[in-house]
Amino acid sequence: MPEIQLDNQIISYTIQKSSRARRISLKIDAEKGLQVILPARAKVDVDEILHEKRKWIQKHLGKFAPHRQYISGETVPLYGVDCLLQVVPAASANRATVIYKDDIFAVKIPTNLKPSLRREAVRASLENWYRREAKRYIPPETARLAAKFGFSYQNITIRGQKTRWGSCSSHGNLNFNWRLIMTPPEAIEYVIIHELCHLNVPDHSARFWSLVAQFCPNYRVHVDWLKNHAHLYNLI
Ligand SMILES: [Zn+2]
Repeated sequence: MPEIQLDNQIISYTIQKSSRARRISLKIDAEKGLQVILPARAKVDVDEILHEKRKWIQKHLGKFAPHRQYISGETVPLYGVDCLLQVVPAASANRATVIYKDDIFAVKIPTNLKPSLRREAVRASLENWYRREAKRYIPPETARLAAKFGFSYQNITIRGQKTRWGSCSSHGNLNFNWRLIMTPPEAIEYVIIHELCHLNVPDHSARFWSLVAQFCPNYRVHVDWLKNHAHLYNLI
């Protein structure tokens, strides 16, 4: 991924060439970060454009995530707890490896990894770890709540949707965002109940919310919490 330093922040981005694009445009979203879209045949100085649009880029990237550098001493959330991050160069590591114990994430990285690649290596290995943890935690938790409240669903998948914590298809399939495991267990429980209730009521009508309230009486607390914290977890 190409990178650029804007003020004192290093930002990585992707370039896409599009035969339909007439001019250069920039796009930012939670999943892909900064994307530069170029007309197929354009010869342009991308660096210059990014410098020119610096203020816009910084403002919009700022909406998404805390600017984590993924270095020792920072924190990353798990089940609502801020866990300490330790990045340890290790001769034995041939790729970034995550070890989690007692609210500490230790990420071992190869000693010969270029400094410019470290941040992405640490971030990607943590994302992998989160995705695996989400697959371990969310399906059994959903099965437990479904059995407890008398719901039945088809399949369950864990994804990285850009804009939602979860969803429920008309065929009775449930999807959950792996980022959910960054949030407190009560919030995860609420999202699961929310999607289970969609099996009976697909919309967000008063009937839907009264069903949610039956199984999760203080759901409003969780709705607000998730709304207020979504930006911290790269979710808008
Ligand atoms: Zn819903």
